[in-house]
Amino acid sequence: MRSLYTIGGPLRWELRTQPSKVFKRYKFHGQPSHILSSKSTLLPSKPARTRFAPSPTGYLHLGSLRTALYNYLLAKATGGQFLVRIEDTDQTRIVSDAESKLYEDLKWAGLDWDEGPSIGGDFGPYKQSQRLPTYNQHASQLLDSGRAYRCFCSPAELDAIKAQNIKEGTSIGYNKTCSHIPEDVSTRRAAAGEPHCVRLRCEHEKPAPPFHDMVYGRYKTPFVPEDFILIKRDGYPTYHFANVIDDHLMQITHVIRGAEWLVSTPRHVMLYDAFGWEPPEFAHVGLLVDSNRQKLSKRLHDIGISSYREKGYLPVALLNYVALLGWSPLRTGQKKITETMDLETIISKFHLRFTRGDIRINDKLAFIQNYYLKRILAQPEYPETIQQVSNVILPNLEKAIGEVEKGRSDNPLLGPIIVPARPAEEDSNLVGKDYLRKMFEVDMKSFVDAESHVWRNANLIWEIPEESYVQALDIEMEQNTVDNFWVKHPDAAAPEGGNRPISALQDPDIWDMFDSLGRKPSKVVDLFHATVQEITDEAWTKESLEKKMKPLIMSIYSDREEHGKDRERGRRQVWGWHALRWIMVAGNVGPALIPSMELLGKAETMRRMSVAKRAALRWEQDEMKKFKDNSS
Ligand code: GLU
Repeated sequence: MRSLYTIGGPLRWELRTQPSKVFKRYKFHGQPSHILSSKSTLLPSKPARTRFAPSPTGYLHLGSLRTALYNYLLAKATGGQFLVRIEDTDQTRIVSDAESKLYEDLKWAGLDWDEGPSIGGDFGPYKQSQRLPTYNQHASQLLDSGRAYRCFCSPAELDAIKAQNIKEGTSIGYNKTCSHIPEDVSTRRAAAGEPHCVRLRCEHEKPAPPFHDMVYGRYKTPFVPEDFILIKRDGYPTYHFANVIDDHLMQITHVIRGAEWLVSTPRHVMLYDAFGWEPPEFAHVGLLVDSNRQKLSKRLHDIGISSYREKGYLPVALLNYVALLGWSPLRTGQKKITETMDLETIISKFHLRFTRGDIRINDKLAFIQNYYLKRILAQPEYPETIQQVSNVILPNLEKAIGEVEKGRSDNPLLGPIIVPARPAEEDSNLVGKDYLRKMFEVDMKSFVDAESHVWRNANLIWEIPEESYVQALDIEMEQNTVDNFWVKHPDAAAPEGGNRPISALQDPDIWDMFDSLGRKPSKVVDLFHATVQEITDEAWTKESLEKKMKPLIMSIYSDREEHGKDRERGRRQVWGWHALRWIMVAGNVGPALIPSMELLGKAETMRRMSVAKRAALRWEQDEMKKFKDNSS
């Protein structure tokens, strides 16, 4: 707790210049950026060389994408270079396709690197397993200077030392047995092929030197470091050794990485010291945690970047979202911070003030995704951009449809795929490409992810069983207590209040404007049927559908009994939209109706009208039966 109040590191100066009211805990622990004044102090003045150094032991996930992004941003914001380096020194944990997937995911996200595997660069190779001679040469350098020594202890001996430490409750780690072996003996034993590792010689009882971290300020470990391993018995370097040598040789100026590496950094600083090198600047960004403050894990959370890809998230949205997990643009003046930013904008606003402490992931992604879709729709170059977006999303929609289709026979709410959605014969897709594209465009504004989009638009893909119509009608009539339907005379002036509810009780004269359809939804269907029937296939466009149908929609009323103390009973209100939603999609929630009708086409619309009519008649018969049963 105390540490939350500690003012240290980069925030110190700026905080002191602020009025006292800013000295609140959240100002230190939360987002420090808005209390900082000028951007010039927040970026290095020289071009930064940064790197993303993944180990191919797993796939890119939210946390590692964020690390890559911050490094990328710093390089781009300062006119520097962003490198990718593969840290594959732990050969036992390599996942075979991890490396290729990492490249694929980074490219998808648009984080192109200036140097790295496959493209090369002046400081290659960029894969650690191809740099073993470099590490050995540097290990020899430390052996020669006496800063390192060979350790011939076997794994069994090391286990025994560990057990002894545990027994004695000490944490000194390796007991330095081999540090006393004379150099010539050590060289001879190594030359004779005796297995060994190389360890750094650390000074007894002296903790590692402190260093400055851009997020955490001055960091000093209380632990006395053990003589840690530089080159393992298998000849591969440890992560620490290779990482430091490469960062130095590749002239990395800034290392931005997850806070889990903070505890390793003292060892790195010791290595820089042993070589007499200047360490880079470090920034350890907070760990991503869920709402229960649990560290995000592959096992518990669906955080793989490919799964975001498959859900249909746009790279621009995902990057924007990830950027905000521990960073935000500076506030200028009193203006509210705009959080929706494309990559270019983030680069232009980038600075090195990160949030300290764990970062809880939030649910802004859906909002951000939706923002970009809407923005794309509003662009003048609309058709091409839409095309680009749908190219990203359509394959994911297809996949999601496939998933629903697999379990469809067990789902009483879905019939077979409707005729207009079916693909041409030679096409192996479930839904025609052209149809899918148009469907996406109808409701693109509400797209968040492929799966939920398919469910939202299920009515445009699958038939709706008659049973669903009956049930929906039942709910409408019973739960919403619809009493009677009315159709307003076509020549009658709009009742006062236009299409707002009017009270039939208040002004009985108004009744003259309406003809009663009774409690008979089938009659409402007939009216729609007659109107729609007149529209020819050629005139089947959104515009003419709207023109023809609007007057009818606005003339269908229902009396409904409203519950609640303050409501009048017997209010009459426009029911036309309800009616049409019930006729077209059994009352289900989904995209706008008229564009949906345009997409479905006349034949499918008329087919739905017949299903609705049958369902209405069934419902009316049931009503009649109930009435008779009650009165006998
Ligand atoms: N190879 C480490 C990892 O997998 C890199 C840590 C660092 O950036 O130094 O995350």
